[in-house]
Amino acid sequence: MPNYEYRCTDCKHIFEIFLTYQEYGTQTVNCPKCESSQLKRIIKPVRVARSEQDRLESLADPEQLAGLDDDPQALGKMMRQMSQELGEDMGPEFNEVVDRLEKGQSPENIEKDLPDLGSDGGGLDPSLGL
Ligand SMILES: [Zn+2]
Repeated sequence: MPNYEYRCTDCKHIFEIFLTYQEYGTQTVNCPKCESSQLKRIIKPVRVARSEQDRLESLADPEQLAGLDDDPQALGKMMRQMSQELGEDMGPEFNEVVDRLEKGQSPENIEKDLPDLGSDGGGLDPSLGL
């Protein structure tokens, strides 16, 4: 049986009552303390919308990542899904890495060819000589 939580707007008393679905909406509910009918139904948040951060974390689920080191194609596929999920263009280097992974190249070899990877240069443009 569902229970409903109310707060009395007169005396601020919070209480729960049990009603069947038939009773709910037909039965008048009164505050058990002051018998006021000025009640406000308290609706508990059932599901909070997940933030972008949460989505990223679930995409980068460690269980999902386990074993990907030995499977460049799966890694490439996952990275592609990630960028599609974000709806962002991750840049030509990212796309090249994904392409190479999907062709079965090992991450080590790709890193050798693309030395800027992993340096996390904070968006510095190498052509500026910084
Ligand atoms: Zn009350």
